[in-house]
Amino acid sequence: MKLFDLKGRVAIVTGGNGGIGLGIARGLAQAGAAIVVAARNAEKSAAAVKDLEALGAKAIALKVDVRDEAWCRAMVGQAVGRFGRLDILVNNAGTNIRKPPQDYTLAEWREVLDTNLTSAFVCSQAAYPEMVKAGGGKIVSIGSMLSLFGGALMSPYGASKGAIVQLTRSLAAAWAKDNIQVNAILPGFINTELTKGARQQIPGLHERVLARTPAGRWGEPEDFAGAAVFLASAASDFVTGAALPVDGGYSVQM
Ligand code: NDP
Repeated sequence: MKLFDLKGRVAIVTGGNGGIGLGIARGLAQAGAAIVVAARNAEKSAAAVKDLEALGAKAIALKVDVRDEAWCRAMVGQAVGRFGRLDILVNNAGTNIRKPPQDYTLAEWREVLDTNLTSAFVCSQAAYPEMVKAGGGKIVSIGSMLSLFGGALMSPYGASKGAIVQLTRSLAAAWAKDNIQVNAILPGFINTELTKGARQQIPGLHERVLARTPAGRWGEPEDFAGAAVFLASAASDFVTGAALPVDGGYSVQM
């Protein structure tokens, strides 16, 4: 279907080598996009590229630490060098450090904010001129239920994910004139490496999520393919500044 067709489009997915990022990359690949997998772990990224190629997509891996501005800018340059253009940026790379607020060091606070928030700003800024050259673009940033709610053991994570929504709105307002749509996806509780740690650290979390989620299950990375293709394609050309929960209803039930 033309509305959702990404043939000829080029997408960067930060943290695209596993979890939700790979679920998104697979969706974009199946819709026809060429994919740049940008993350630190080269082995995982190489495996992700094979996975995407098996779906019939063009894909490359770039070793990138999104906490570093120079790497983010080089990532955009290399993506354009390889595929000739940039249409889609998915700001997905993320991390969490769980502890009570009084126990964080400033270095830990910065680690989470730099990875989850500042990187999204820097990568979007780096992508902007290339999207303008391409006649428009799509930026999708990954928030969280912590964009909406607080978490006792997640103060920097919550601050970063709340701010992702506000950053999304501001970029959307600024770049609509350039035909660049900027939106956020807010995942519920998803079965990935990141939440494996949380389930181990927070007793009863698994069951509490099941009990509160109307869909009656944890999400899986493949649950993100549809929302990502929508927000990366012509289907969403009049949608900008939105924050779309993909959460099995977690955020709408008390
Ligand atoms: P994973 O731990 O599976 O994936 C995190 C990804 O981010 C990895 O690909 C990792 O690759 C990459 N990454 C982390 N730090 C950096 C860095 N400094 N530079 C480049 N890449 C980095 O977790 P999820 O798939 O669960 O998380 C993906 C996103 O979804 C995150 O933004 C997370 O906050 C968000 N999210 C997840 C939820 C869940 O329930 N799982 C819920 C709500 C939001 P590498 O280590 O190779 O660099």
